[in-house]
Amino acid sequence: MLLFSTVVFGRPEMRFDTIIIGAGIIGTSTAYYLQKYSPKQKILLIDKNSKIAGGNTSRSAALYRNLFSSRTSQVLSASSIGFYETIADKIGLKNLGYLWMFSQDDWKKSQKGLQNLNDQSETFEILSPKEFPKNLQLNFNSSDDFPAIHQALYGHRCGSLSAINLAKYYAKQFEDLGGKIALEKNIQKLSLSEEERHFPPWSGIKLLSIMDQNRDEYLADDFLFTTGAWTNDLLAPIGIASQIYPKKRQLYTLKLDSTQIVSNPKESTPILILPTGGVYVKPILQNGIIMVGCANELGNPYQMNIYPPAAEQEYFEFAIKPILQYYFPKLKEFKLFSKWAGYYAYYWPDKNPVIEKVSNIQWISGTSGSGIMKADAIGRISAAKVLGLEKTELFDGTKFKIDNLSLKKRAVDAEELII
Ligand SMILES: Cc1cc2nc3c(=O)[nH]c(=O)nc-3n(C[C@H](O)[C@H](O)[C@H](O)COP(=O)(O)OP(=O)(O)OC[C@H]3O[C@@H](n4cnc5c(N)ncnc54)[C@H](O)[C@@H]3O)c2cc1C
Repeated sequence: MLLFSTVVFGRPEMRFDTIIIGAGIIGTSTAYYLQKYSPKQKILLIDKNSKIAGGNTSRSAALYRNLFSSRTSQVLSASSIGFYETIADKIGLKNLGYLWMFSQDDWKKSQKGLQNLNDQSETFEILSPKEFPKNLQLNFNSSDDFPAIHQALYGHRCGSLSAINLAKYYAKQFEDLGGKIALEKNIQKLSLSEEERHFPPWSGIKLLSIMDQNRDEYLADDFLFTTGAWTNDLLAPIGIASQIYPKKRQLYTLKLDSTQIVSNPKESTPILILPTGGVYVKPILQNGIIMVGCANELGNPYQMNIYPPAAEQEYFEFAIKPILQYYFPKLKEFKLFSKWAGYYAYYWPDKNPVIEKVSNIQWISGTSGSGIMKADAIGRISAAKVLGLEKTELFDGTKFKIDNLSLKKRAVDAEELII
């Protein structure tokens, strides 16, 4: 067995019951709930950034919605939103609504998913174009290139919040309960108890310690990797197939005269999803701003090259702008004044989070672009898994079977309502 002298004679302050690596929204939420459920535990939350939520959490559009066809997504998001509503003023929660527009073809394809929404019928409506908010300056017609707007889902329990404030909220609650946070610690080495034995069974092999850029070593009984898009980079070298892959996503903010989008900018405007290309618009029209994003799948690699990645001007010009200007024909003049990109951490098969454990190593990732809106539930579930529970109760009282999000015993229905 390979042991390091620092492991045997390690400094006492470097030894913890649980170490959580990654202080984004998932790490902070998990840390808080674990400390709350298990107050005597000595828990350390570590991040390589100098700030809480300095990774992809701060790069997100921070939109939330309860409109999902997958039962798992519905439960994770609805219960999380319920919690966020209780701290709305602290996290800048704005209940704007979501107007999700469909072409006729996509509407037909989405029927199966729409049926699954029936349980939540009080939280959404189906609108025909005639019933849309009159304020929107939309073109409803088709052209050779773009389909007409056929129908829309109008979600009531949808909006935006400050993802950074939410992560800071959890971090503060965690610290108030006695949890410790260490920033600017870039974990570069994971040391297993038996480095020579690379074959199954795993029994007996544990993660003993992790080491940062200063060669400081941290020991714990349990290690949680809430490292989002970096999870595979950290765990693959020690023989764990986390099944999590990074994919770049980009956001653009446009400064404009808001009357190109709505006739009265003082009225509240919902978040908009246009019926083509998954282009979505977050309106901040009182300030003359819209934020625009778009999903790009094929040709966009599951790979993280550099971080932070650059947002591409051409992607906006060729993929987003034509769609935006088609559905908002008055949109002629605007300034693209900022753009940025980050990475989704994908669990490709069903695009729901993964909470899995091998030996004393647990990873919680695969949030697949909806980690902010599901983080409260994910934190409660991952904390309960550390404690070896089978089920846990979410904010709204739903009992959730923890292994449903594991890889080995996964029970998640695939999402049918995809942007
Ligand atoms: C452009 C874009 C738009 C998005 N829009 C939305 C949206 O509208 N709504 C929504 O719900 N979600 C959205 N998301 C997804 C959301 O951002 C993620 O689901 C969420 O932030 C994941 O949180 P996390 O804590 O897992 O990851 P992160 O916030 O990335 O946290 C992981 C942390 O691990 C740390 N770390 C990694 N490696 C190491 C190491 N070796 N040592 C120490 N620390 C390490 C990183 O520094 C980082 O802080 C969007 C994402 C992007 C990129």
